[in-house]
This record gives sequence, C-alpha cells and structure tokens, in this order.
Amino acid sequence: MTDPHEHELRVLNPATEEVVATVPAASEEDVAAAVARAARAQRTWAALAPADRARLLRRFADVVDAHTEELAGLEVREAGHTLGNARWEAGNARDLLLYAAGGAERLLGSQIPAPGGWNVTFQEPLGVIGVIAPWNFPMPIAAWGSFPALAAGNAVVLKPAETTPLTALRLAELALEAGLPEHVFQAVPGYGATAGRALVDHPDIAKIVFTGSTRTGREVMERCARLVKPVTLELGGKSPNIVFADADLEAALDPFSFLDNSGQDCCARTRILVHEPVFEAAREFLAGALADVVVGDPADEKTRMGPLISRQQLDRVRSYVPDDAPALRGTAPDGPGFWFPPTVLTGERPDGPAATEEIFGPVAVLLPFTDEQDAVRLANGTPYGLSGSIWTRDVGRALRVSQAVQAGNLSVNSHSSVRYWTPFGGFKQSGLGRELGPDALTAFTRTKNVFISTEGPAQ
Ligand code: NAD
Repeated sequence: MTDPHEHELRVLNPATEEVVATVPAASEEDVAAAVARAARAQRTWAALAPADRARLLRRFADVVDAHTEELAGLEVREAGHTLGNARWEAGNARDLLLYAAGGAERLLGSQIPAPGGWNVTFQEPLGVIGVIAPWNFPMPIAAWGSFPALAAGNAVVLKPAETTPLTALRLAELALEAGLPEHVFQAVPGYGATAGRALVDHPDIAKIVFTGSTRTGREVMERCARLVKPVTLELGGKSPNIVFADADLEAALDPFSFLDNSGQDCCARTRILVHEPVFEAAREFLAGALADVVVGDPADEKTRMGPLISRQQLDRVRSYVPDDAPALRGTAPDGPGFWFPPTVLTGERPDGPAATEEIFGPVAVLLPFTDEQDAVRLANGTPYGLSGSIWTRDVGRALRVSQAVQAGNLSVNSHSSVRYWTPFGGFKQSGLGRELGPDALTAFTRTKNVFISTEGPAQ
C-alpha cells in the first residue's frame, strides 16, 4: 500500500506480496462529485415501482451469480481469502440481493385512524447512503451495507478499504450490467483520511454505515454527530467460546472458530473458555488440531488458512505473541507473503492485553473457568460484545448463559454467526444498530406521518 499522500492504491496479493492492481485513490472532490451524481440518480431510482426495483435487483443477483468465479478470484488475490471462503462470499452477496429484492416489495407504510381524518405513515428512502467497508470481508460487508439500502430506494456511495478495492469496483460494474440506473451504486476507492472523511462529512450523505475498527468508528460517530447524521457502526470483537464439561469437545473446539479468514474475523471466538474438568483434554485436543491446519496458497482448494492481509497486520499480531510465550502452535510458510501460524496462548491473564484486546489474527487465548458464574464473568470481561458460542447439552444452562452474556449474536452448540435473514450487530463497543434480517430495509428509511382531514368545508 502507498502512503496517504499519493494518488493511487497499490493492491498487493498478501500471499505473494506481488502487485495485483493499481487503482486511483479518490480525492475529496471525487467523493463530492460521486455524491452529486448519486443524489440525482436516487430520485429516479426511488420513483420506480417497488416491483421494478426488485426485478432489477434480482437481475443483479443473476449477474453476480454468473461471475462467482471471477469475484471469488479477486477476493483470493486482494484479500488472501481461501477459494472456498471466497466462493461463499460471492454467494452471500447474491443471496442478500435476492432477500433485499423481496423486502423492496414488502416495504409498506401504515394507516392510523384518528377523529376527523386519517394518519398515513410512509417509509421514505433516506437519499444517498455512504458505506465504508473494511478489508477483512470486502465483498460481504460491501453487500450488507449497500444492498438493503438500494432495495429501500436509496443510492449508495461505497468506499472500500485501501487494501481491497477490487471486488467493490467490480460489483458496481456488474450492477450496471444488470441494468441498475447509472450512479445508483458507485464504488469510490480511497484512503480513510481523505475519501472516508469526505463521505462522512458530506451534507448530502443521509446516513453512514461504517464497518471497521472501534477506534475509527468513534471518530466517524463524532463527525456524524456534528451533522446529526444517523450512523450504523459494526466494530471490533473479542468473542468468547464457552465450553462446558458436558459439551461435544471436538465440535466446540473446532479451530476454525477462530482461524477462519486467518482470524481476521470480527466474530472470531478468540477467547476459549473451558470448564476446569475438561481443561487438560481441551488443551491436548487443540494442540493436535492446530498441527493439522493446512496453511498456504489460498488459491489451492486444499488450503484451509491463508495469509494475513498486510505487513502492518502481521507486525500487530506478532506484538501479542512473543517467541517465548507459552502457546500451542501450528505451522505457516516463511514468505514472501504475510504468514502467521495458528496459535493458542496458554499462559495469559484473563484481564491482560492478549485476552481482552482484538488481535485480528490466528491467535486465541485458552482460559479455564470454575462454574457457570465464572464463565459469564470471563465472557463479559472485555469492552466488546459482538458474538460468542455456548457449548453444553444442558438446555437450561444454555438459556441462562445466553441471557447473561452481553453480545449481539450468540450461538448455542454452533459457531455460526451470520445469516443474511437474521439481525446482526454488536453490544457495548462492538457497535450500534443492526444490519441484515427482516428490518434491514427499514433501517434505510425515515418515517413520515401525514394527517389527512376528512372534515368538509365549514357549512
Ligand atoms: P479501519 O477502521 O482501519 O478501516 C475501516 C474503513 O474505514 C476503511 O475503509 C478505512 O479506509 C476507513 N477509514 C479509516 N479512517 C477513516 C476516517 N477517519 N473516516 C472515515 N473512514 C475511515 O478497520 P480495518 O482495519 O479496515 O478493519 C478491521 C476492523 O473491522 C476490525 O476491528 C474488525 O473487527 C472490524 N470489523 C467489524 C465487523 C462487524 O460487523 N462488527 C465486520 C468486519 C470487520
């Protein structure tokens, strides 16, 4: 990646460090021009009958589907995702388009009776939405912010992360190919400090959907506050994996609960909390499981874990794992590329940095707990509250612990976090607002009530 004063983004393949593409970086003026084009296009888009918008979005889904291999290939090259994951991501974008298209047809207002008239309540589109995406899941997160907004009649200006602009640019081209009106969905790659801020500060951006680090999210929220601009924040995580003694240990300790996407996953279960009676068994199981993880070329179908996104991210992960730290370790290639082995730290304090801060790499901590209360206390012992898993065969305990853990997305006897048809978002410093699910479109509307008098003229 180049420094922020340059006018281009150099996209590196994180598995090889080769330059994959060079993309112009948007200036503040470029962002303003994109917003002006979007504002004009949005009026035509919003005026379409919902069924016509839905038809175009379904066609967009078909075009995405036809380009699955191409989109997946881009995600492999620019983000280092394994091919299997990247194909799933293209499929997720397609499925969300279909889901959002259905929502467009069901976005209704209401009618509330009143003496002497009627209240008619409308759900109006907001206008132009600014979507700011991170590098860890470039395609799905661009989709989650953008597609429900489009379905509700908004235009979208999407700013992808500096390191991963390619799938966003291609999705915007595919939207045109599918017949969406020009400028309704634009991708504007650029640096956060210029293009990102320009989008947040622009008075004609009606709402910001920001996904990224909690540090940047705070700044985005402050800037939105100056304009009283609504904002959705999808931020960091440090999610617990709570494993009780009666659990199916092999399923509960699946290392991909924290290694998926090389651990660069906001929902990664990076705090493995294990009931004391099975703690030693868990340690043994994890040691074997890490040794079996195939780390390497993400384009190879057999690979289960690829590289980290950048040298900067590699340095960050290394800073949490000194060479002499007590740990279970797998293996990783030496380089070129940004590789780090699957790692479980075994000598950490529950309130120490490695156990409470988001590392965003293939690193988890293993901690014992004594009983249910202790598990909940440990689970809630970070500023984050995004996800978590609870493993037990005791239904009562599963329900009690799910109620006590402060997180927006929990799973019982599963590590699944995201389904496009259920709401997703964080508690505490993991975020604000929800994406996906049945209310995804409403989040991109404003409610207007019009009272219509039925009184006749005074006789
Ligand atoms: P980041 O905060 O550095 O950047 C995210 C985006 O914000 C990028 O597009 C960047 O260019 C832009 N940006 C940077 N500074 C900005 C500013 N001042 N104003 C406006 N935009 C700015 O985050 P990242 O390192 O790209 O992503 C990793 C983080 O994202 C992790 O913390 C991860 O947990 C989080 N994340 C959260 C979710 C979720 O749904 N909760 C999903 C994925 C990732």
